[in-house]
Amino acid sequence: MKLKKRILIALGLMALLIVSLALASTYFVQRLGSASENILKDNYVSIVAAHSMLDALDEMDNAVLRSHLDTAEKAIQYTLLFDHADSIFARNLSIAEGNITEPGEKELLVELRKRYELYKSEAPASIPVGERIGPLYDSLKVSCIALLDLNTKGMHLRNVKAKEVSNQAILYTILLVGFALLLTLGMLLRFPALVIKPISELTTKIRNIANRKYSEHIEVTSQDEIGELASSFNQMAVRLEEYDRSNIDALIAEKKQSEAIVKSMNDAVVVLTRDLDVVTVNAVAAQLLGIAESDLIGKNANDVGLNNNLVAKIIENIDSTGSNDEAYLRIYNDGKEEYYLKDVIRIERTEGDPASALGYVIELKNVSEFKALDEAKSGFVTTVSHELRTPLSALNMSLRLLQDERIGTLNPEQAKILDAMKQEIRRLLRIVNELLELSRAEVGAEVMHMEAVSPEGIVDAAVTPMMLQADQKHVNLEINLPPNLPMIRADNSKIAWVLINLLSNAIRFTPAEGKVKLEVLSQNNNVEFSVTDTGIGIEPQNLERIFDKFFQVRGNVSEHHSGVGLGLAISKEIIEAHGGRISAQSEVGKGTTFTFYLRSL
Ligand code: ADP
Repeated sequence: MKLKKRILIALGLMALLIVSLALASTYFVQRLGSASENILKDNYVSIVAAHSMLDALDEMDNAVLRSHLDTAEKAIQYTLLFDHADSIFARNLSIAEGNITEPGEKELLVELRKRYELYKSEAPASIPVGERIGPLYDSLKVSCIALLDLNTKGMHLRNVKAKEVSNQAILYTILLVGFALLLTLGMLLRFPALVIKPISELTTKIRNIANRKYSEHIEVTSQDEIGELASSFNQMAVRLEEYDRSNIDALIAEKKQSEAIVKSMNDAVVVLTRDLDVVTVNAVAAQLLGIAESDLIGKNANDVGLNNNLVAKIIENIDSTGSNDEAYLRIYNDGKEEYYLKDVIRIERTEGDPASALGYVIELKNVSEFKALDEAKSGFVTTVSHELRTPLSALNMSLRLLQDERIGTLNPEQAKILDAMKQEIRRLLRIVNELLELSRAEVGAEVMHMEAVSPEGIVDAAVTPMMLQADQKHVNLEINLPPNLPMIRADNSKIAWVLINLLSNAIRFTPAEGKVKLEVLSQNNNVEFSVTDTGIGIEPQNLERIFDKFFQVRGNVSEHHSGVGLGLAISKEIIEAHGGRISAQSEVGKGTTFTFYLRSL
């Protein structure tokens, strides 16, 4: 049954109880009323009549007696008195006769009337005579008293009955009220069990569900609204559990997929949380780091790094390195030296926001083979350049001899051809020299002659040969060299070469009356060199490639320039072999700035 129906029934029952109580009370009050009315009607009238008859009888008797004692003249007066009393008696007798209610009353009244008639027939005659009619009077009086007694007893009986009715009324009322109270109490006790208990049970279970205890279930015991609520709740719990399970399944599947990807990779991969706790590593990484997977997972990389240099190294500057940044690591693995390229990918909740970092993926790519190939290539280039340089120099010499007039004069045509040949050979020599320089730079710091040098010394060595070039092109060369710059560890001639290359480019690509500024700054632990010009600038898409080998911006290169696009590539190799960085910023039409920095001592 529906809860609404139940509540309605309960309230209806209460209303019914109130109505029946009211009806019962009215009924009892009415019964009590009629009982007292009966007393009044049945007996009281007869009693009053009996009393009046007794009084009238005494009056009559009195008149008879006094007429006897008084003078004869007054007899008429007593007759009047007698008649008056008689009329009262007769009237009351009629009243009594009209109100026969008691058993035996009728017979009594017949007797009374008989006696009255007798008394009345005898008494007036004796008035003047004065003879008392005592026995008649007595018997009439006895009858009157008997009537009085009968009705008094009747009244008493009715009174007792009325009392009984009232007692009954009290009893029934108490019973009814008790019943009503019991019923109400019963309902009051049932109501919480009916409504409040299921609701509080539901509240507890919902709380449990909120804490992911999906096994919660409410037993459906009724068909009412609470029952419906309970079954809806059960359905919800089942759905939530399914949903949660499918979510967890999906998450587990994703996690397993990611782990499988990490495990299947040939490169060493370490996944860290933002607090640098190790989430997962693959076998390659574990072997490379020399620690068992189980000893790594769940540990903090900083703690592991205390006893493992390599771990300390791979997490070094993890944030400043940023994503997609690269750094080489030389690792001894399996008894041989291998080269690894460290790549840190920062996992960010919001892309481009380092503060939202969720963790890091560190990848160590084995680039030993590429490195070996690169070295072989550099070696090859070195050898070939070296081998080409000697015959080219010899050719150059021979051409110079041919041009010497002492050997013989050339006609203008021949001289022109020789001139072109000489230029080409010079160009070839320059390319060969630069290639040699590049392959040397690529071999790295080992071939650098590192020493403590002052930035001023480097600037001096670079600027002197450039002065003339700037003057010739009417370009203002400005040098900004603050005092007390720290010393740096570098190959003096190589860094000077880089500066010369940058200054030469700057002058070359700056129109006359332009400005080229060389600035040196000491910043943090670095000494920063920058060459700024007010030249033609470089488009962004070319800016990314200018450090590539043999790259030249089309249209920039003048006919007379003999460069081959190696200058910046060599500069980059030299600076990186020093552990520094080189970069360029440019705005087309406004100018370019090349900056490199080297670590100060
Ligand atoms: P090269 O000077 O031998 O051509 P570089 O490696 O020195 O080779 O320079 C590569 C290219 O970068 C140049 O050909 C030129 O197009 C561009 N470039 C270099 N420096 C500047 C500069 N200061 N302003 C404009 N373009 C430049």
